[in-house]
Amino acid sequence: MANDIMEKRLRAQKRAEELKARIKDYLEAREKIHCGFKLAEHYEENKRRIKKVLGATEKDWSNWKWHVRNRFTRAEDLAKVINLTEKEIKEINEVGKTYRWAVSPYYASLMDPDDPNCPVRKQAIPSIYEITVPLGEPDPMAEEYTSPAPTITRRYPDRLIINVTNACAMYCRHCQRRRNIGEVDKAAPTEDILQALDYIRKNEEIRDVLLTGGDAFMLSNSKLDWILTELDKIDHVEIKRLGTRMLVTLPMRVNDELCEILDKHPRVYINTHFNHPKEVTKDSEKACDKLARLGIPLGNQTVLLKGINNDPHVMKKLCHELLKIKVRPYYIFQAKMVKGTGHFITKIEDGINIMEYLRGYTSGLAIPQYIINAPKGFGKTPMLPEYLVSMAPDAVYIRTWEGRMIKYPNISIDGESTEV
Ligand code: SF4
Repeated sequence: MANDIMEKRLRAQKRAEELKARIKDYLEAREKIHCGFKLAEHYEENKRRIKKVLGATEKDWSNWKWHVRNRFTRAEDLAKVINLTEKEIKEINEVGKTYRWAVSPYYASLMDPDDPNCPVRKQAIPSIYEITVPLGEPDPMAEEYTSPAPTITRRYPDRLIINVTNACAMYCRHCQRRRNIGEVDKAAPTEDILQALDYIRKNEEIRDVLLTGGDAFMLSNSKLDWILTELDKIDHVEIKRLGTRMLVTLPMRVNDELCEILDKHPRVYINTHFNHPKEVTKDSEKACDKLARLGIPLGNQTVLLKGINNDPHVMKKLCHELLKIKVRPYYIFQAKMVKGTGHFITKIEDGINIMEYLRGYTSGLAIPQYIINAPKGFGKTPMLPEYLVSMAPDAVYIRTWEGRMIKYPNISIDGESTEV
């Protein structure tokens, strides 16, 4: 008996060694990935510098409206807080003639002042490639043809979007809705929202409403409260979702007043948009913690971006950092073919490779779904490495996460039967 236990223990130890070997490359790579928590002191230093340049107090810094008012929108001003070459300044100004840009002081404090390849900088600062890469179209999702009522986008049977504003705390360079950003920040007119609410009232199959834009948290508290209140009154609306990137670009938005409002409304979910572990900071953790304490489930939608997160180790680290701040990695989106963002688009193989590298190698909770949004609004289509190799009436061949081929029975009998 003792020999039997010993034998099993030895086999388990051998297997444990094999498993350890499977994570070795990640553990080595992980050390070199820049993460917000590890960079906390650098961020503090950047913050002190930016506050000084803008003449801001600590009270200003904790006020989200101050950040929105003081967004960097001129290359010459941004050059006062990070190092930009003459060429970069010229290019930013050139791109700015076609595409609007704005960076919150908070998000600027996450930038490496000296590294033009910093993933935070690349998401925020215009690149000349936005006007030189000839890829994409303004509206590949044909959103204009999926709007049955003002401000609504409807692509699915039981849910829809209300685009409540075109404003964001920062204008991301990879934005898939950049055509909506326009010249000025505008909340959707009340008349349009009233028509959208009316549409929802009349269509009883709609059980899930996503408020986004733009960024739903850019709405005033009173307008957000009003829309949620109106949705609460519609019996068939079971859940409300808010789409916001402000947990990443301006986490100070999640203040006590906003929390009080959100707490009044039942069954609210929040979708956010972290793309790199550098964005997961103490401030974003604080904001997410406040929301999680209200019982609001938090999910993350990442866009797969060349040179930012199209690396299996970086993506895995991002997913782990998100779970640490109570955010569930939910989707990885293949970047759409949007004009002005072509330099971010990756090959599909990059996404499949990432999925292959996550499944089995880390907790299921840390694994988002990789999605291609089918053009013309035909919806989210999951992309997966192949695990079902072949299928016969009585058995399937499956490939495990480590690549083992296994025959698995394909059998179902009802409880009454005595035959197998
Ligand atoms: S926050 Fe979202 S909608 Fe706004 S610019 Fe960024 S990606 Fe686009």
